[in-house]
Amino acid sequence: MTRASTPSGSTTATDTAATATATDTDTDTGSGTGPGSPHPAEPAPDHGPESAAVRAVWQDLGLPGLIDVHTHFMPDNVLRKVWAHFDALGGLWPITYRFDEDERLSLLRGFGVRRFTALSYPHRPGMAAWLNDWAGDFADRNPDCLRSATFYPEPEARDYVASALEAGTRVFKAHLQVGRYDPRDPLLADVWGLIADAGTPVVVHCGSSPEAGPFTGPEPFAETLRAHPGLTAVIAHAGAPDYRAFLDLAEDHERVHLDTTMVFTEFSKDWAPFPDQEVPRLKGVADRILFGTDFPNIPHPYLEQLRALARLDLGDDWLRDVLYGNAARLFGL
Ligand SMILES: [Zn+2]
Repeated sequence: MTRASTPSGSTTATDTAATATATDTDTDTGSGTGPGSPHPAEPAPDHGPESAAVRAVWQDLGLPGLIDVHTHFMPDNVLRKVWAHFDALGGLWPITYRFDEDERLSLLRGFGVRRFTALSYPHRPGMAAWLNDWAGDFADRNPDCLRSATFYPEPEARDYVASALEAGTRVFKAHLQVGRYDPRDPLLADVWGLIADAGTPVVVHCGSSPEAGPFTGPEPFAETLRAHPGLTAVIAHAGAPDYRAFLDLAEDHERVHLDTTMVFTEFSKDWAPFPDQEVPRLKGVADRILFGTDFPNIPHPYLEQLRALARLDLGDDWLRDVLYGNAARLFGL
């Protein structure tokens, strides 16, 4: 399989940077949007025209809105480190939605996003439980957020995942690239088992884009699925760049889904293009493709992800399922 290269050899992406959490931030759960934030967000422009353009897409399809299964909300100090990481790329990856949390939330709601996630993920031990506490509080404050949690291969994982499920977690995130862990790690066996038994979806970044990790690519997670065939998995970025192999996985496992995050966009065409000849297969698994965007850390307007999906020309029914219907069914909305 090939490894995707990023623009100008950059090895970063939203998810890579999202774990640039320094140890000194781990116990800081402040919102960071108050006075004294070292890098104030930009003042909010008028989002009216953009919101109207996004809403027109789903309104024209007769949908009640959008469900975005791949969005990132995280402790403010973590997010600001993410932005700093992107800024260091010298303009390669402009953050389109560099706003304070309230503004980001109002943007999504203005777009007509009825449900969204708050995906975060650890890059080392001792971090997941803290992220889960933050995400739980965030979901309590924002009922349109699907309560989100994460984990890492560590002895405590079983207990905090069980607690997260008891607290009503609707979706988990596992990041094999950033975490650089093996999904077959024995410390995760009970975790996958609990999540499978609960039927709770887990968004798994197991693809090798933007950069391969020691356990990315189709095989390690395929083996995990063989051990836990009941797992409801959502393959982030449709497994970019190994789209064929992850389509195979979705065809072989009826509970495996693919999210659209950044796939098919003009930006991703440069470094992880989706093969034209595989497009028809997206109809075969039409009931398991879920709209996702990577908001807010995306280098293009939100509308671009919608336009990219429409450009596939797979029909209005397909779009309705992807933008809303499939996620509504999966999350029981
Ligand atoms: Zn992401």
